[in-house]
Amino acid sequence: AKEAGRDQVVLFDQQLREKRLEAARTVERLRGAIERDELLVHYQPLVRLADERITGVEALIRWQPPGERMVPPDRFIGLAEDSGLIVPIGAWVLREACRVVAGWHREHGTVVSVNVSPRQLREPDFGVTVLDALRESGLPAAALILEITEGVLVDAGTVTEQAIGHLSMLRAHGVRVAVDDFGTGYSSLAYLRDLPIDNLKIDKAFMPAPGPPDQAARTLVKAIIDLASGLSLSTIAEGVETAEQVALLRELGCDRAQGYYYSRPVPAPDAAVLILQSAGA
Ligand code: C2E
Ligand code: CA
Ligand code: CA
Ligand code: CA
Repeated sequence: AKEAGRDQVVLFDQQLREKRLEAARTVERLRGAIERDELLVHYQPLVRLADERITGVEALIRWQPPGERMVPPDRFIGLAEDSGLIVPIGAWVLREACRVVAGWHREHGTVVSVNVSPRQLREPDFGVTVLDALRESGLPAAALILEITEGVLVDAGTVTEQAIGHLSMLRAHGVRVAVDDFGTGYSSLAYLRDLPIDNLKIDKAFMPAPGPPDQAARTLVKAIIDLASGLSLSTIAEGVETAEQVALLRELGCDRAQGYYYSRPVPAPDAAVLILQSAGA
């Protein structure tokens, strides 16, 4: 039994080493991905529930190594954060998204949401990076929404002053801030009152499953929407996949929705077509 135990440890050790090696290889390939033009941004429409028009898009990064399948962000964002690569990658996404959406904004008033990782907000010049992206692209600050997770603002019960400083400065310029994946973190609700935020994105985990009406799911979604509206925060439901979910969200007074029911994230030219159709409808 002792032998077997030792074998297991050796095997585990080996697997761990292989995993680390694989991660290191991925980081190396990712390092050159910006220069080699392998990163791209897809856009997913955000729909205003009152009239079902597209008012904005969320920028979602993709990695396309030549001759390989597209790598989804869940496979490399974590590694990019650990290695610090998320700083140049995040700056690239910001510039690219602002540049692309500036044209849509001029034509149709479209706004863009960009994901920002905690690591980016620890950079002293994060605010400057954002203002530069706006200036270069000509996109007005009011057309940019930064999506952050609760953990960015409150870490183990303490407010993270540097992140708050960046976001407060940017909000003074007109940029808006959305709390992403709302309801999945464990921080106190007290922060909603005091922190520099404008929108709550209700995590897809809260969408009621298809089938008979789910009273508990409905109660939770209603509670979040009521909480947000009491604090003058606007609400966006994510992961909306069915007409039933849309009907419920409308009834409960949710402002906007995003999900496969309306569209998957798509390349920029396809998003442009969706926006044009929505404006003409
Ligand atoms: P997220 O910010 O919560 O983005 C929403 C994710 O839900 C996207 O996955 C989107 O494709 C997916 N989604 C949209 N509608 C539906 C739906 O109706 N049903 C389901 N099941 N899923 C839906 P994606 O594009 O794979 O991105 C995954 C995560 O990667 C994002 O989650 C975000 O945390 C991160 N990410 C993506 N782009 C960036 C980026 O530029 N910077 C940073 N820091 N993180 C990013
Ligand atoms: Ca997001
Ligand atoms: Ca989310
Ligand atoms: Ca997420």
